[in-house]
Amino acid sequence: MKAIAVRPGTPNSVHLADLPKPKLDDVPGGRGVLVRVLKVGVDATDKEINEAKYGNAPPGYDFLVLGHESFGVVTEVGLNVQHVKPGDFVTATVRRPGGSIYDQIGTSDMTSEEVYYERGINLLHGFLTEYYVEDAEFIVKMPVGLKHLHVLAEPMSCAAKAIQQAFEVQRRLKVWRPRVAYVLGAGQIGLLCTLVLRLRGLQVYTLARTPAPNLKAEIVEGLGAHYISTEQKPLRELAAEAGKPDLIIDCTGSSALAFGAMEVLGHNGVLVWTSITGGRHHIEVPSDKVNLDWVLGNKLLLGSVNANREHFEMGIKDLALGEVTYPGVIQRILTNPVQGLENYAEAIRLLVDDRSALKVYVEVAPE
Ligand code: BGC
Ligand code: ZN
Repeated sequence: MKAIAVRPGTPNSVHLADLPKPKLDDVPGGRGVLVRVLKVGVDATDKEINEAKYGNAPPGYDFLVLGHESFGVVTEVGLNVQHVKPGDFVTATVRRPGGSIYDQIGTSDMTSEEVYYERGINLLHGFLTEYYVEDAEFIVKMPVGLKHLHVLAEPMSCAAKAIQQAFEVQRRLKVWRPRVAYVLGAGQIGLLCTLVLRLRGLQVYTLARTPAPNLKAEIVEGLGAHYISTEQKPLRELAAEAGKPDLIIDCTGSSALAFGAMEVLGHNGVLVWTSITGGRHHIEVPSDKVNLDWVLGNKLLLGSVNANREHFEMGIKDLALGEVTYPGVIQRILTNPVQGLENYAEAIRLLVDDRSALKVYVEVAPE
């Protein structure tokens, strides 16, 4: 069976690997689900793994199969699997449990251990292959009416978690009625966060570099949010005009912008960081000023990574609500299909070189 793999530690090592086809009883206890892979999305994390900035091979292997944004169809299930059956469309969560209490209660996205296990990213093979088998616990059903949004289920789960966590921590305030949110970055996570916040009724400003008109701006406006080009209106100017936000979600992939956001957050606000920055950039920050403002304003900084089953389910519900609220808008994120696993070089090229490629995904097999 073909698979797209890299040799972690070796830059630009993406290649086609060969793996044995998995079997249902590779998962014990009749809990196995065998899935035929249809589509797999790739993102900046895959790009950084191929650049050898991030990620590790599973023990005993010198390669790592990529792919964590999966969409497939169930072909076989074990005797003790109830929630999916052959023919169902499914996605899978990314993290697998380690040993902490959080891992034991189904929240491995909150593991307290330094080592984490993520399919296609760290210490476990991913989904960019023809079939995978998985414990039913980690398989999430996709409603048939959302199959056209396929690989967005995983990034959506990360957006859903980031926002759920923000609302959860703001319970410290007894009353929190956020009005204005800034979303920094209009990549897939930024756009999906924009959607979730609009569905919660917030006034949303989504910021990206390039001036409108462009596809990102059209999607943002299609979701009833405001698209702001930071070339035309820097963050501080926006804050002076629109007011300081109650909530900022940084999805830029730039640690400099993530820190810059600290200078405009409103009192009692929360800033959520979601980007994985595997590089080594250093910047200077006005630390006295930020420190003072943050103490005087009771502000909160929150990191959010990954997503558990509950967030996948929340995300899928919001995709469904999004479809009926803003019909046809979300699918416009899915810009760049690549045909077949053997075209891995094209998938990576689009990720690295094509700034207009909003979402690259591999069409592994037809339905
Ligand atoms: C994935 C997450 C993962 C994170 C850190 C992201 O690209 O979507 O599931 O937890 O990378 O490895
Ligand atoms: Zn990802």
